[in-house]
Amino acid sequence: MQAIDPEVEKKLLVKEYRNLLKALRPNLEPGEKKEIREAFALAMEAHSGMRRKSGESYIFHPLAVANICAKEIGLGKTAIICALLHDVVEDTDVTLEDIEIKFGSKVANIIDGLTKIAGVVGKTNSIQAENFRKILLTLADDVRVILIKLADRLHNMRTLEAMGRNNQLKIASETLVLFAPLAHRLGLYSIKNELEDLSLKYTEPIVYKEITQKLQQSKIQRNKYIRKFIEPIQESLSELNFQYEIKSRPKSIYSIYSKMKKQDIPFEEVYDLFAIRIIVDSGPENEKSDCWRVYSIITDYYKPNPERLRDWISVPKGNGYESLHTTVMGQQGKWVEVQIRSRRMDDIAEKGYAAHWKYKGDEISGTDTNLEEWIKRIRELLENPESNAIDFMDDFKLNLFSDEVFIFTPKGDLITLPAMATALDFAFDIHTMVGTHCLGAKVNHRLVPLSYKLKNGDQVEIITSKKQKPTEDWLNYVVTAKAKSRIKASLKDEKRKIAQEGKDYLIKKFKNADFGWNNANIQRLVHYFKLRTSIELYFNLGVGAIDRSEVGIALKFFELSDKLGRGQTSKKPDAPINGKKPVLKAPDIVIVGDDTDLNYTFAKCCNAIPGDDIFGFVTISDGIKIHRTNCPNGIRLMSNYGYRIIRAKWSTDQIKEIRTFPAGVKLVGIDSIGIVSNITDIISKELQVNIQSITVSSIAGAFEGSIILYIYDLEHLEKLIEKIKEIKGIESVSRFQVEETVTGEEP
Ligand code: MN
Repeated sequence: MQAIDPEVEKKLLVKEYRNLLKALRPNLEPGEKKEIREAFALAMEAHSGMRRKSGESYIFHPLAVANICAKEIGLGKTAIICALLHDVVEDTDVTLEDIEIKFGSKVANIIDGLTKIAGVVGKTNSIQAENFRKILLTLADDVRVILIKLADRLHNMRTLEAMGRNNQLKIASETLVLFAPLAHRLGLYSIKNELEDLSLKYTEPIVYKEITQKLQQSKIQRNKYIRKFIEPIQESLSELNFQYEIKSRPKSIYSIYSKMKKQDIPFEEVYDLFAIRIIVDSGPENEKSDCWRVYSIITDYYKPNPERLRDWISVPKGNGYESLHTTVMGQQGKWVEVQIRSRRMDDIAEKGYAAHWKYKGDEISGTDTNLEEWIKRIRELLENPESNAIDFMDDFKLNLFSDEVFIFTPKGDLITLPAMATALDFAFDIHTMVGTHCLGAKVNHRLVPLSYKLKNGDQVEIITSKKQKPTEDWLNYVVTAKAKSRIKASLKDEKRKIAQEGKDYLIKKFKNADFGWNNANIQRLVHYFKLRTSIELYFNLGVGAIDRSEVGIALKFFELSDKLGRGQTSKKPDAPINGKKPVLKAPDIVIVGDDTDLNYTFAKCCNAIPGDDIFGFVTISDGIKIHRTNCPNGIRLMSNYGYRIIRAKWSTDQIKEIRTFPAGVKLVGIDSIGIVSNITDIISKELQVNIQSITVSSIAGAFEGSIILYIYDLEHLEKLIEKIKEIKGIESVSRFQVEETVTGEEP
């Protein structure tokens, strides 16, 4: 870094600032100068002490960018203020809010856009064209963002010398791939050419140097040729009283390089090294006819190549370019390209649409009002895939209807999410931990709920808290599969953790009460609390849905009921224990067939079927057993353990669809050939009833059989019996108690 004399620097700065005001002057309204001064002062202050790689004070950069915006793009006050402040939010303590308060929301919006681009373009190692398009799309809202960014890039390219080789390569190739085509698309031809040439200078320094030198060497010869070429034209134009200017410029270095590469030819063989441009100062009403008159004059002297006539005056290019191009045969058999256009057309070609307002002809030309109109046209251009030029942004329109939203992180990274994605989806996309601890979100610096639906260009900041955990609700807030699966996993995890806590507590409690930690005892507790599974029990305990003191009471009750079960005492178990409220909380009624949370099974001793009178009996380790009221076993239970009886009844019809019950049928009849298959046919095929077993014995022409079949309810069984009675040879049919060999049926 070289030492810089602060006095010299100050003078230079003043000079540059004056240049800016000079460039703006025709476009400024009273009071606007003051605003620009304020922006400049703020930028100065914010960047004070900062220096660029080149060693110069940082403020030179935003000032240069503002100058490019004013002079080379033709932007007005708002854009100039933004250009001056474009690096302030990104690089200094000044916030977007500060800017909004001072300069209003429009300026703040544009600077926000510029900061976002800086985040994406500057911070990633290789920005992809695809991402870049997305960024532009999200920011196309105010095209000034893109124009200021182009000016920023142009100045950075002009001062790229100071950067290290790696950065030079990165920035230069980025410029070539992204920014130059963008400038072209917007009709900013001189900026596009300069960006390309500068890129080549750093990406292909040897070739660049070679072309530059050869252009220099051939300059004298070329100038001589041009002079000779335009001589007769100048004479004719003057005779006809044209106000005109003739420019002859060598083609851009990059375009010569492209041609050499494309056609695989050396520099010497690129024939159209230069183009001659004739600019006529004609009023809007004459410009078209004047251009064609010039064409006519040229072709009086030189033979045109009809295949290379381009009329972009009658039909301008999509980006607004207007000009008449022809290639004619000059002296020594050399082809020369001639561009014919009016002053207005030339301005537009050089500065893009920004030059349009100059030709609007109204009093307040150059103010932001006219600029708005121009910006609207650029936007149309960006969004219109049918415009020709290069196809760089041709899929803009497609993207407009895309089912994705593009979101920025606080650091400016770009994240793509499906449309309808919420702030919570975003959080999970960042990281699972960010998602699970997501407490809230700030979108564009404002607090929003987790369910906030993200919009293109939103900048989202997630607020987390270590204490935060996902809840079931969250599943309704998210659309991405990632967020959904993470929330579910977390909920499950959480449940497991809570259950483990409950289980740990229970193990301790069992130990203290000297109660065996085994499945039977756990099941007793499960039934006691009217739950289905041990996990439910643990979870309810862990989460506090079951009061822990209740567990102690339950264990006491088990102890007591075990004694009662052995018939030792007549003490009622629901008598207050230790002065506490009764603890037996048996359900009032079991609705059999309803999908209740009560755990019941059918006692195997009587196999109740729907319609039978039934009751429930609370067993100690096997839940509630349903018995028929007339079950001999049940009667014994009722008389001995009345307090463990629960009323039970059948639920309504729906049960028929789901469940069948085994029932026994006894048959007596006359043995005849095929009677058994006859019976089974009728039962299984005609009545569609499943048979569990069938036994038949026959003695001297008579037979006796028992069938166990599955029926829906009592009514069903009765119908079945009637049907069987009709079979030829059947004498009597009756129901019998299905008595399976029941072992270990506990009371
Ligand atoms: Mn910058």
